[in-house]
Amino acid sequence: MLIVMDAHATAADIEAVCAVVRELGYEAHPMPGPTRTAIGITGNRGAIIEAARIRLMPAVRDVIRVTAPYKLVSREFREMNTVIEIGGVTIGGPEVVVMAGPCSVESREQLFATADAVQQAGATILRGGAFKPRTSPYSFQGLGEEGLKILAEARERTGMPVVTEVMDTETVDLVADYADILQIGARNMQNFALLKKVGRTRRPIMLKRGLSATLKDWLMSAEYIMAEGNPAVILCERGIRTFDDHSRFTFDLNAVPVLRELTHLPIIVDPSHATGRWQSVTPMARAGIAAGADGLIVEVHPNPAFAVSDGEQSLLPERFVELVQQVERIAAALDRPIAGRASLAL
Ligand code: PEP
Ligand code: MN
Repeated sequence: MLIVMDAHATAADIEAVCAVVRELGYEAHPMPGPTRTAIGITGNRGAIIEAARIRLMPAVRDVIRVTAPYKLVSREFREMNTVIEIGGVTIGGPEVVVMAGPCSVESREQLFATADAVQQAGATILRGGAFKPRTSPYSFQGLGEEGLKILAEARERTGMPVVTEVMDTETVDLVADYADILQIGARNMQNFALLKKVGRTRRPIMLKRGLSATLKDWLMSAEYIMAEGNPAVILCERGIRTFDDHSRFTFDLNAVPVLRELTHLPIIVDPSHATGRWQSVTPMARAGIAAGADGLIVEVHPNPAFAVSDGEQSLLPERFVELVQQVERIAAALDRPIAGRASLAL
């Protein structure tokens, strides 16, 4: 349920409504909008809320039943886009953000070389996996805490915030100690215990779409995080399973404009995992930004043939330079500069 307050509602009017909501056993989420405040109601333990009781309170304009099963993530609840600020970079604002780095942190030398190269090319957030979800238990599983330390050193060196995956509830606190943004991987999108745990951290969460998740499944997972009190959720489309196998996954760019209507959360796209082949990464990065995504996450490796994971989809640094230059022109056509770069004169 959503309570829409009058434009002239005072802070005391809003608090009085929130108090009634809480008294009934629900949580109240006041959300100031450009013209008026709305108050979202969530919770599953309260009494039935009599809409009439609230409608009659001072400065209440309307009480609306929210039909979507997700509440806090929905555009119905919050009209304005969520903008997340991390280490001097904003995600979900007018600028397009570029995140890049290797699939896995392999060594200090490999990460530093990649970090320097992607930063020079225009990336403002560094990616790198320390805990790796691999299909085979015999594949490289990541450097673990050692990898996190190397990521933190790379942040010191470049000033770039870092994003890295957290795979289980046991390591959430450890990863949150080192990383600026916690990534929930596609294979964990419905690990509800993990979603609740990261929802209680104070780090932004990048939630990747599950391999066979509908938008509703995905948004319900985002709701789990927000319901625990963490408002900073970033959605990342990374390709889904379909019948075709010409690429690793099917990049669902149709999702971008639909998500834009359904949710206020920032939308990032990952053309590396979606396609699985470096030749497709730049074209699909261009397409993702053209579709309206707020940013990209791209795998880059100084020597892809020797990468311990995802070498086939990793761009050489010089190809990543071209990607950013091309994406910059697409973004400029939408009046969106790339974060951290002087605006492009076309
Ligand atoms: C990754 O980002 O390296 C990764 C494993 O992504 P996904 O969960 O989308 O497969
Ligand atoms: Mn990868």
